[in-house]
Amino acid sequence: MTESAPTILIVGGVAGGASAAARARRMNENAEIIIFERDSYVSFANCGLPYYLGGEIQDREKLLVAKPGLFQRRFRIEVRTRHEVTAIDRAAKTITVADLDAGKTYTRSYDKLIVAPGADPLVPPIPGKDAAGVFTLRNLEDTDKIAEAMPDARHAVVVGGGYVGLETAEQFRRKGLDVALVEMQAQVMPFLDREMVEPLHRQLEYNGIRLELGNGIASIEEVNGRAVAAVLADGTRLPADLILLGVGVRPNVQLAEDAGLELGASRGIATDEFMRTNDPDIYAVGDAAEYTFGSTGAKQRVPLAGPANRTGRLAGEHAATGESRPAPAAWGTSIVRVFGTAAGISGLSLRAAKEAGFDANAVHVIANHHASYYPGAQVMAVKLVFEEGSGKVLGVQAVGGEGIDKRLDIIATLTHFKGTVHDLAELDLAYAPPFGSAKDPLHMAAFAAENHLDGLARVVQPDVDLCPYQTIDVRETHEVEALPLAGCDSVINIPLDHLRDRLGELDASKPTVVACRSGLRSYLGTRILAQHGFKEVYNLSGAAAMREFALNRRLPSVYTASTTGLPAPDAVIID
Ligand code: FAD
Repeated sequence: MTESAPTILIVGGVAGGASAAARARRMNENAEIIIFERDSYVSFANCGLPYYLGGEIQDREKLLVAKPGLFQRRFRIEVRTRHEVTAIDRAAKTITVADLDAGKTYTRSYDKLIVAPGADPLVPPIPGKDAAGVFTLRNLEDTDKIAEAMPDARHAVVVGGGYVGLETAEQFRRKGLDVALVEMQAQVMPFLDREMVEPLHRQLEYNGIRLELGNGIASIEEVNGRAVAAVLADGTRLPADLILLGVGVRPNVQLAEDAGLELGASRGIATDEFMRTNDPDIYAVGDAAEYTFGSTGAKQRVPLAGPANRTGRLAGEHAATGESRPAPAAWGTSIVRVFGTAAGISGLSLRAAKEAGFDANAVHVIANHHASYYPGAQVMAVKLVFEEGSGKVLGVQAVGGEGIDKRLDIIATLTHFKGTVHDLAELDLAYAPPFGSAKDPLHMAAFAAENHLDGLARVVQPDVDLCPYQTIDVRETHEVEALPLAGCDSVINIPLDHLRDRLGELDASKPTVVACRSGLRSYLGTRILAQHGFKEVYNLSGAAAMREFALNRRLPSVYTASTTGLPAPDAVIID
């Protein structure tokens, strides 16, 4: 047993702070451990708050993961709620604490300090932001206020198409409110590539949520101090008696900055491999801290619960014993459910990979989540981002019904071990018809990426300008009539099964793109042409479906497999 008896003080008692405290105790029975939390609750389930608002979680008590009494009884950890840490004196190794109920201030000395103050919701500086009926959602107090307002509300406006906005919009709708979702960017979840979120747009609208994309909130109209409408940048007026501002978070770094702790380029508290700040006796974890981002190796904030919990645990151990394993890189692996559709990302989108300087490319696969012939198969789209040459996997995005979490997590595991598309192609994944396919959609993505890297079937992205190319659409004519390939008039339609017979109609010397519905037939066409002397031939990744989405259009409903708006994949998958 560790003999030392350090005093470990912890600022913030939720995801990062509570994990740090509990691990510190498990590693050191002698330590004095105190959590200071400015709010009334510790260790509550932030991520469950939207589901409580919509009634999917009915029992509020269930949101309280561990109460102060349990910390005291089981862990001998003292929890001081409604106690705000207002200053850190690093030379004296003390903190100043404001007891918010007693109105008193006192100091407390520490040997090790763990700073886990999280982040506060951003509130845009717009007229009316302080009106009654305008809320943010971060903690239980916020949740209680929104829950109290909901029964009298009819029109809700949710501002922000990130995770919190999407989840809360869904839950408001569940409760029968008239809901509009406002997002300044042209898409929800702006950290995903455009085509990968279109199924979410479709699902939101299918469920009666009005979408206002590319249109920020300009002001809130109020009457007698109460919000009555949200007014958007283009002048649109949305009636609203309940407005949720979910436009992102600002890390709580003031306390650290005032104490001379260094901030990194992303304005999070800079940390080393053990989550220590530039003061070796002070750790920082959670939304306020910086992590090494896996795909780039750069330091950045990753405001998600997983990294906060896991690094809290490591920092607690290091503070209690002086050693721990180093903190792993974070990949921003995250997922959201919007009614029947799930979407998520791990690592970099293609756009972000290019911005980070990678020579990156991506393949799309549209496939069923389990064997097509087994009842209940649901369509998904996967986009695998990789580095040219090395084939190193840089990220994945997935959208669809069932099985999205599994695909994101497989890639999160692969990239943790610095895997390539070749490693992915070789993974031996569990298979029986109710669970997957003998060739999983991720295998198919790996095969497509390998085919690209090997020069067998090179890809172009779905938003490519097709006009410089000879473009051949190998769908059946009735499919092309239902959905002509967007963006160029000179597309030649030759159904795949006639392609070999009609090669004479084509110019083998021209750079050529082959397209179809979901990407399989175009791949087969690409291989036929390549073996008949076409010098430069590409498969349109994601095919007509993803092209529509990438160009900000919708698929006609006759063309779609479900409310996700994704097309049914071609039935026979041959790699
Ligand atoms: P927090 O959990 O926010 O805890 C910080 C605590 O520090 C706060 O309670 C704050 O009051 C306290 N504090 C701040 N300053 C002081 C001070 N000076 N003195 C004392 N106390 C202080 N992430 C996911 O990965 N998946 C999800 O599904 C998901 N859903 C979410 C849904 C909602 C509605 C919200 C709000 C967040 C969600 N998140 C989700 C994000 C996740 O909750 C955060 O990333 C995580 O809680 C961060 O942990 P933290 O310890 O850094 O901060």
